[in-house]
Amino acid sequence: MDEVASRAARLSLRPMNPLHRVSAARRNGGISHWYAEIGIPPIAPPGRAPLEGDIRADVCIVGGGFTGLWTAYYLSRARPDAEIVVLEREFAGFGASGRNGGWISDHFAGNRDRMARSHGRESVMAMQRGLQRAIDEIISVCAEEGIEADLVKEGMLTVARSVAQEARMHEMLADARMWGEGPEDVFALSAGELDERLHVSGARGALFSPHCARTQPAKLVTGLANVVQRRGVRICEDTTVLSLEPGHAVTDRGTVSAPVVLRCLEGFTPSLAGARREVLPLNSAMIVTDPLGEQRWAQIGWERAATLGDMAHAYMYAQRTADGRIALGGRGIPYRFGSRTDHYGETQSATIGQLTSILHAMFPETLDVGIDHAWCGVLGVSRDWTPTVRFDPATGLGDAGGYVGSGVSTTNLAARVLVDLVTGVDSELTHLPWVRGRARRWEPEPLRWLGARLVYGLYRTADQRESASDSAATDPLARLAGLISGR
Ligand SMILES: Cc1cc2nc3c(=O)[nH]c(=O)nc-3n(C[C@H](O)[C@H](O)[C@H](O)COP(=O)(O)OP(=O)(O)OC[C@H]3O[C@@H](n4cnc5c(N)ncnc54)[C@H](O)[C@@H]3O)c2cc1C
Repeated sequence: MDEVASRAARLSLRPMNPLHRVSAARRNGGISHWYAEIGIPPIAPPGRAPLEGDIRADVCIVGGGFTGLWTAYYLSRARPDAEIVVLEREFAGFGASGRNGGWISDHFAGNRDRMARSHGRESVMAMQRGLQRAIDEIISVCAEEGIEADLVKEGMLTVARSVAQEARMHEMLADARMWGEGPEDVFALSAGELDERLHVSGARGALFSPHCARTQPAKLVTGLANVVQRRGVRICEDTTVLSLEPGHAVTDRGTVSAPVVLRCLEGFTPSLAGARREVLPLNSAMIVTDPLGEQRWAQIGWERAATLGDMAHAYMYAQRTADGRIALGGRGIPYRFGSRTDHYGETQSATIGQLTSILHAMFPETLDVGIDHAWCGVLGVSRDWTPTVRFDPATGLGDAGGYVGSGVSTTNLAARVLVDLVTGVDSELTHLPWVRGRARRWEPEPLRWLGARLVYGLYRTADQRESASDSAATDPLARLAGLISGR
């Protein structure tokens, strides 16, 4: 088999082993359902040829996901004459950007109290408002550039399904108010009010925030890649970066020499020499149902495009897709030993079983609906669980990432910050609290693997114990997990 045919085979949708049918999805891996819908792009199509030999550029961007592509987009607008090269190991949109839950939300992964202590309260709120504006910015760029990505902004619902979750939900609301977020940002719904929007079995109430849009992520990322290419950015696909040093990105096909080199690899960062312990690639997995049909949607009452999450420690996230399915995700197996990543999105059958159980518990109406597809991907977590944007003018090296599970809008803001830092613009964005130094490194193996397994094991047990109890207190095992993880 030649190289192209063998890669196509690896990318093709892999049917489940019939022996695993109990918790099976019809297809597993093949990157994601989102690509099954639009077709997996060919590797290195015209204009995206791999790097051939050594070249020079003004800016070299490593990684063709949302971070890299948004950075290329805004840089090409700020410096239309700059020669910008994006280096991508597979194809633009191969990573988390083409596999995610499609929430474009204002959620920021960092710890607000910690950021306020180092940068002040105003700075934390500026970050929050910046993320809220990023949602509208993405929508407006899509409209301006003709990117069709099933974007609808109708907010998000976060449901509580146990007494402890309900108590946490009210604490979260009080905390939001303390940070200056009003009812225009988030408000509580009683169980009855939630039921008017969506019937979630066992729900005791929910928070609603208007700051979330739903998208089909593969349409968004491939659309963005096309726009970036049209703007004159050179995207070299099928080109693996091996190491970075000031002024150079060394790949398997040659070296790009550029005064500015930006690392945008998120969960894939550990694949680079010298960066093994900087970012932990945390797994997230998804399933998607067959299309539900009007009658079943009416039973579930999910008539609009608000996204759905919950207050569990090992939380779930879901959307009603534009083509009438439920796409639902959660942690799955949290981490692979040695920071390994998945094989083209293939996930474990136990994870498919877990996610299917969550779907059935929340929506018993879906018990006889087929699970069409399952997949997974990695997101990046830095040791202090807080996203970062950095650029050192002395070396020309920069990076952005560590968004935990909230990167779809955050990448857009990160890119604009990175571009201001690179072009030397002293803006409101460059003073946001996530422009900072490196967090400490993750522990060596096997501690990293043991820690990740332990933390998510504790979260899952805490969720089970809370579900079986009438206590409003958060389970102590969840608090212990928080302490161990350093979140
Ligand atoms: C299953 C799942 C669900 C998620 N759901 C949501 C959600 O609903 N909302 C939300 O906000 N966030 C979500 N996220 C997180 C979000 O998708 C990411 O934060 C975001 O896409 C990160 O974009 P990125 O460009 O930084 O990284 P990526 O999209 O991972 O891009 C990195 C790119 O680098 C390439 N690469 C890797 N190694 C090399 C190398 N050595 N040389 C060159 N290129 C390389 C990869 O092929 C990849 O294309 C989810 C993530 C996952 C996995």
